[in-house]
Amino acid sequence: MVRRRKSIIIFLILAIVLLLLFVICCVFKFVHTPVAEQRDSYVYDLPYSKGVSYKVVQGYGGLFSHTYTAAIDFEMPEGTEVCAARDGEVFAYKDNSSEGGPFSKYKDKANYLIIKHSDGSFGCYWHLQKNGVLVKKGKVSKGQVIALSGSTGYVLAPHLHFSVKIKLNYDEDAYVRTVFATDKGIVELKEGSWYEKM
Ligand SMILES: [Zn+2]
Repeated sequence: MVRRRKSIIIFLILAIVLLLLFVICCVFKFVHTPVAEQRDSYVYDLPYSKGVSYKVVQGYGGLFSHTYTAAIDFEMPEGTEVCAARDGEVFAYKDNSSEGGPFSKYKDKANYLIIKHSDGSFGCYWHLQKNGVLVKKGKVSKGQVIALSGSTGYVLAPHLHFSVKIKLNYDEDAYVRTVFATDKGIVELKEGSWYEKM
């Protein structure tokens, strides 16, 4: 009798833990924080090679690391070629880190490349591989291979984080919403969807 009661309790605990995990997953997937309403009318290129598709694993306002942030995470293996989404000029970069992981202590460890556009906005390419910045000064053209993706900084898994900012800080109003030319038309990218660069 006691043994039976024990197994019922263990079963109930397991069921509660599973239910909690399910609820947490749902919250992360379906709940998003608001992001700035300001939009860039420019049509951006997807930041990777033509004919290839990647999935958006975190979109605007995602709870993992995009709260109040208009940024996009493309799931891609380390070492994937990253292409300029718009013409511009190298503004800043870092590519000497090899550290990354799902803890906030890794926040300062991301490698990145920031490209300044002609309207004064910045294209931000984050979590690059060590020594993964391929263009370190001067002009870049839309579509040019400029970096190699990685998983440095605050990351769950390898991906490219891309955002367009008008100020280089983390305020909500530093970010602008953007549209991209994709196989699904000129659209704002949605979490969970795949987009091919035409
Ligand atoms: Zn991100």
